[in-house]
Amino acid sequence: MKEEINALKTIDSKQFQHDLISWFASEHRDLPWRENKDPYRVWVSEIMLQQTRVDTVIPYFNRFMEWFPTLDEFAEADEERVLKAWEGLGYYSRVRNLHSAVKEVKATYGGVVPDTPEEIAKLKGVGPYTAGAILSIAYGKPEPAVDGNVMRVLSRILLIREDIAKPKTRKTFEVAVRALIDHENTSFFNQALMELGALICTPGKPACLLCPVQEHCEAFKEGVQSELPIKIQKKKTRTVPLVAAILTNHKGEFLIHKRPSEGLLANLWEFPNFEIHTGLLAKRDFFNQELKELLGVTSELGELLVKIEHVFSHLVWNVDTFSGVIPTEMDQNIMKKHQFQWVSEIDLEQYAFPVPYQKMMAAFKEKNM
Ligand code: SF4
Repeated sequence: MKEEINALKTIDSKQFQHDLISWFASEHRDLPWRENKDPYRVWVSEIMLQQTRVDTVIPYFNRFMEWFPTLDEFAEADEERVLKAWEGLGYYSRVRNLHSAVKEVKATYGGVVPDTPEEIAKLKGVGPYTAGAILSIAYGKPEPAVDGNVMRVLSRILLIREDIAKPKTRKTFEVAVRALIDHENTSFFNQALMELGALICTPGKPACLLCPVQEHCEAFKEGVQSELPIKIQKKKTRTVPLVAAILTNHKGEFLIHKRPSEGLLANLWEFPNFEIHTGLLAKRDFFNQELKELLGVTSELGELLVKIEHVFSHLVWNVDTFSGVIPTEMDQNIMKKHQFQWVSEIDLEQYAFPVPYQKMMAAFKEKNM
């Protein structure tokens, strides 16, 4: 938080507003929702633009305004027709929420879109960005409208290194916009930030040489514009519970299994293990049942040997490992078919085992050898 406060202290905000707004005044794209400041039009356009490109939205917006030119007409519209107007735009909850919010505006506010942050935020589907956009563009209120574009632009100008993937980071950027916004022209200021992000300060390599606010930009000064914004994608990891066993026979050989030739840890060797897909059986019983089904033999498992957690990039194995014996002979054909074999302790060295199995063996040796 300190970093961006420092940048806010040094930036010449008057000059920044001037450079940004005069660029927008002369360079902005003529988009249909910019024809006037009707809050209903601004609202519809902002909802359409969520998750959808400007080029795609333009014909939809124009048709929508033909079908429902005023808030009143939209509020009265039949749901079938509303959905038809949205057909192909996707994320249909957007238009359902919009429709019910517009009905509420008609019923509660006499058809006038509210102009206070408190009231507007209560409307269905109106989040902080949409609220800020309507209030600043249609009503001239100095409210921030922070979306991904604005976070990218301001993270560069003010050298904000907070992770924009975190929801709370938005607050930092709202503070920044409140400090910088031109109270005389909130509409152009917020739209100019968005426009700059769309046309010049784009993801990847921004066009800094064409940028109207280059001289205010800390990232440009330091040459780090391509490193910003910071966005740390959370990897979705899946946790897989497994039960494994280091099994020996009467000769003291170990039962090992070759993994499939494709996929995770392909062609490496492992000790028999099964993914636990039921909580109904004790882990030992589950292992015995699975092994019996697969190889036709019964194993006798001892106490828990070790619990191993192994983290891959996308999943986590939690392996409860037992030691045990198989007291009976095994069918060679079945073993071969399922890629199992017995190997002596010395020969084990010649087989490649992934780390978690090496850890199991180390725990086994510690207890038994
Ligand atoms: Fe973005 Fe470059 Fe302009 Fe800075 S100078 S705001 S990085 S386009």
